[in-house]
Amino acid sequence: MRGTVIHGPGDIRLETLDDPKILHPTDAVIRTALTCVCGSDLWPYRGVDTVAGPSPMGHEYVGFVEEVGSEVTGLRPGQFVVGSFATSDNTCPNCRNGFTSNCLHREFMSTCQADYVRIPNAQGTLVATEEVPGEEYWPGLLAVSDVMGTGWWAADAAEVKPGSTAVVVGDGAVGLCGVIAAKAMGAERIIAMSRHESRQRLAREFGATDLVTERGEEGVARIRQLTDGIGADSVLECVGTAEAMQQALRSARPGGNVGFVGVPHGVAVDGQELFFSHVGLRGGPAPVRRYLPDLIDHVLTRRIDPGKVFDLTLPLEQVAEGYRAMDERRAVKALLKP
Ligand SMILES: [Zn+2]
Repeated sequence: MRGTVIHGPGDIRLETLDDPKILHPTDAVIRTALTCVCGSDLWPYRGVDTVAGPSPMGHEYVGFVEEVGSEVTGLRPGQFVVGSFATSDNTCPNCRNGFTSNCLHREFMSTCQADYVRIPNAQGTLVATEEVPGEEYWPGLLAVSDVMGTGWWAADAAEVKPGSTAVVVGDGAVGLCGVIAAKAMGAERIIAMSRHESRQRLAREFGATDLVTERGEEGVARIRQLTDGIGADSVLECVGTAEAMQQALRSARPGGNVGFVGVPHGVAVDGQELFFSHVGLRGGPAPVRRYLPDLIDHVLTRRIDPGKVFDLTLPLEQVAEGYRAMDERRAVKALLKP
């Protein structure tokens, strides 16, 4: 089969790899229907995360069950399935508490930009749709496997409530999905922080009521101006840089909450500032599996359309161009068709 391998910063290649096989009785192998490039794939691509030799890439997928291990009873070949970037058995104490991305048997997916993928913990990880959905739904369902699930978690962690005010820091795919989530959870005012015209348009389409282009202290001042001088009820931090985290913490009102879902790079939180701010802080890798049934339903009933974050569609052969386009910010998110 063909699979994506990173050899070093900026060096993405589609190579011929061995077809994945069932290694454990709890595995499944799926044929990839769609996959994509994640903003977090840019960390190694840009050399921010070290690449220790050639490594397979990709953790977002929807596909068709090809084969299941002997202990997988809930799935059968031919079914259309949606999963998560983190596998989970869905039975351990952490899964039962809803923190499926901290499953005691968790494995992070990393081989999905390929024709076929082995899914560990398949029974707990994969959710099959009742029937094979029309192809027009596939991009939305693919988004649910990571960016939409993560945007949902950001809003959930920031405790967005009906009638509340939410600020979204970051206008990448996760930030835009955060806008979708805040809207779906009933936020009355959604302030998106973005300076890019095409992303601002999408944010508006997804439900943003205000746009703030300022950053840093000016950005904080602008948010306060828009929120009775105190800051927002909920802030979704969807970037992962020190600047974004500071922006988020200072944009929340006393007693407000920050949900942080950008993988932190160089982020340090000042304990004294946090203490005196009365701001609640929760984040981490999104427990996507917990949300899957609900989010799949949201997509199939057209209540949300996160598939719109894909503004570039490429055949898998052109995966390297997908990375380049996202790195150069020519695309929000690149969809790959095997
Ligand atoms: Zn578990």
